[in-house]
Amino acid sequence: MTHWRYAEATDTGLVRQSNQDAIYVDDSLAIVADGMGGHAAGEVASEMTIELLRSGFAGDQSVEGLYNAINAANISVLNDARENPNHFGMGTTVIAIGLTVDDEGVTSPTLCHVGDSRAYQLRDGALRLLTDDHSVAEEWVRMGRLTPEEAAVHPRRHQLTRGVGVEDTIAVDVMSVHALKGDRLLLCSDGLSNELDSDTLARLASAPFTLEESVTQLIEAAKEAGGRDNISAVLLEFDDISVASRPIQRTISSTTPPVAKSAAVTTVRRRKNRRLTWRTPFVAAVLIGVVVGAYFILQWYAYSTYYLGNDSGVVAIYQGQPGGVLWFKPSLLVDTGYNVKTLRPGDQAALNQSISEPTLKAARHYSDYLCSLTKCTASTESSSTTTTTLPTATTTLNGG
Ligand code: MG
Repeated sequence: MTHWRYAEATDTGLVRQSNQDAIYVDDSLAIVADGMGGHAAGEVASEMTIELLRSGFAGDQSVEGLYNAINAANISVLNDARENPNHFGMGTTVIAIGLTVDDEGVTSPTLCHVGDSRAYQLRDGALRLLTDDHSVAEEWVRMGRLTPEEAAVHPRRHQLTRGVGVEDTIAVDVMSVHALKGDRLLLCSDGLSNELDSDTLARLASAPFTLEESVTQLIEAAKEAGGRDNISAVLLEFDDISVASRPIQRTISSTTPPVAKSAAVTTVRRRKNRRLTWRTPFVAAVLIGVVVGAYFILQWYAYSTYYLGNDSGVVAIYQGQPGGVLWFKPSLLVDTGYNVKTLRPGDQAALNQSISEPTLKAARHYSDYLCSLTKCTASTESSSTTTTTLPTATTTLNGG
């Protein structure tokens, strides 16, 4: 069984006009949220987040319940900002520690964290930072681009890389806290950690000061150091503590706004099914349309012209491209009756290669012309139109 005692305090500081930090602590949950955004929107974001975490965790005191509550807060802050122009751009950090109950009934502390509010663990006067700041400067420290000293004064040290209400998805650092009886945990906003160095934090937050004395001293010391931001501190001390059956330390990203496990799974499945019912017929219809369109365009091209050719020694008129186009073969339309061998030699050669004409009428005229040059003989008494089956082509004959 895990049990803690606590004390908390928050202060506007000496420079800011309002306090956009929000804090909450009870016997099983402690939260610090540092809101951001103009027109008091930061207060809305931090208070909304506190309330949703409090109610969400009350309904599900598991690690998943705590994590889902942060996701729900993220979506709610985003939606509120979209619906209220005055809240545009608002967001908040959140650091929360909850006494979570696992499958084996063990109650242990779990820390969830987004942004640059911090958690420190204190033991025997020594201070250990448990969290990574999700700020540009601190990310660069972890990448080796800056030293911690450079990051402390870097202009982008306040620019967050993660926050509640910033994007549709949120990545949350989740970790089981390993502590001993008598250990203290300090949750604070950057208004405290930016003003006081580690040694001062350790000295003021530790015994022999009581929890109440410590938080009061921390706030006052931060104000004496400048008080340039809102200042918040929640201090816990473990009277008894258990370790999680399956400790966790990882960053978990969301893709949906899960509120409960079953609801989240249902939402994902419904969305997948909706995609299937929408997209599959649509894609199939587009593909069929493309194939059918290509077929008719090809057919039009294949039968868009006429030519004179040699049909077993007789001058014939074909519709189509000489040699055909794919499976669209030229169609014999007219047997003129003119004997090829009675034409001029050059015309015979040209005929064997095919002589293209734009229309059926032009093809007829040209065959008559060739014949007139030599007063050719007819192999049959009169020309005839074939009965070649070509439904789409015959519709163009009259036009030719
Ligand atoms: Mg702050």
